Amino acid sequence: MNFRRSRELFEEARRYLPGGVDSPVRAFKAVGGTPPFIVSGRGSRIFDADGNEFIDYVCSWGPLILGHAPPPVVEALKQAVERGTTFGASTELEITLARMITAAMPSIEMIRFVNSGTEATMSALRLARAFTGRDKIIKFAGGYHGHADGLLVKAGSGVATLSLPDSPGVPASYARNTLVAAYNNPETVAELFKHYPRDIAAVIVEPVAANMGVVPPRPGFLEGLRRLTSDYGALLIFDEVITGFRVAYGGASALYGVTPDLTCLGKIIGGGLPVGAYGGQREIMEMIAPAGPVYQAGTLSGNPLAMTAGIETLKVLSQPGAYEQLEATAASLEKGIAGAGSPLPFGINVSRVASLLTIFFMSNPALDYESVSGADTALFGRFFRQLLAQGIYWPPSQFEAAFVSLAHRAEDIRRTIRAIKKAFGYLQT
Ligand SMILES: *Cc1c(COP(=O)(O)O)cnc(C)c1O
Repeated sequence: MNFRRSRELFEEARRYLPGGVDSPVRAFKAVGGTPPFIVSGRGSRIFDADGNEFIDYVCSWGPLILGHAPPPVVEALKQAVERGTTFGASTELEITLARMITAAMPSIEMIRFVNSGTEATMSALRLARAFTGRDKIIKFAGGYHGHADGLLVKAGSGVATLSLPDSPGVPASYARNTLVAAYNNPETVAELFKHYPRDIAAVIVEPVAANMGVVPPRPGFLEGLRRLTSDYGALLIFDEVITGFRVAYGGASALYGVTPDLTCLGKIIGGGLPVGAYGGQREIMEMIAPAGPVYQAGTLSGNPLAMTAGIETLKVLSQPGAYEQLEATAASLEKGIAGAGSPLPFGINVSRVASLLTIFFMSNPALDYESVSGADTALFGRFFRQLLAQGIYWPPSQFEAAFVSLAHRAEDIRRTIRAIKKAFGYLQT
């Protein structure tokens, strides 16, 4: 496979964009090699500037659950563009998408649309602080909630990938209000509440951790958080930016039967356009301006193109059989990986929830940030490069999830498993 044009473009990009990219993980720093510059995508495939074709398991990091350029979304967007791209005034599309989301997630009675997941979590925390009159929050080590100040403490995703310490530029006075607990360990949360019984506004959690690799919640973990937050008068915030409409139509809250006070959304609900949202009970949400005093605004919020892509995506996902198909495809991939080249001289462990999956290069189960930190990232890097050379675009980090879409076909999975088998074979030499 030839990456000549991508190499030229990457060099040129580095003159204008820090690190050559607009989001760190795209630079392939953790795995090495040249990141392919993408020209187009269709279904499960992406095509780069050198004419290479890849089966894509990044899917733009989650939004593209229908795959690339799905016809119903593309058609609706073409018509929407003709009508104008933004008005800075309300459209009926916002009501339509809000109605679809509140119907899917009963704990969301009202919702506010924003432009990214980062904005959603940042705004939800402001609201939680206003509602409770408290300043501190609890997050989990390895949990990623976007790049807002105060959430970059012990963060997952690119922060974990690049082994960065908590980011410079975040004032210590601000980070002091962020308390960190261990994922899957409600005891560590109970300790913090005991220590600060009247200071904690909210616990924010990815109900399925997906930014330190996929780490499923252990039975009782989410229930424990629900109980503790209720007991201490704090809010429980589910960051479902990845899991919403991904692990089930109703998100992780429906899958595990635990009801949060506030939910953050993004990715899938924008169908591949920039979007975020936060929502919850009417009593809390009506504190947001102009209904209430908590200020939060956005020039492009509720943008008609993003709303259109979201509506069309949810329409497809709400059809019978969509999640069964996602589950069957992802399960066959998991099974294929588990059977590829065993016994291996190194430990691997496939961690999967619905269509989210990580191959950890370690033997122990993925429970929390500490346990996944032991994964062999050098071995992962070699594995990644082997897959790329065979036309498989796997997430370029040990600590990110692979995403399976409705566009992935049995033939894609068979080819992927063959490539993984070959890569495992190569890693043993
Ligand atoms: C992607 C992500 C975010 C941030 O969303 P952006 O749109 O990238 O700002 C927040 N929380 C979780 C769980 C995410 O996966």
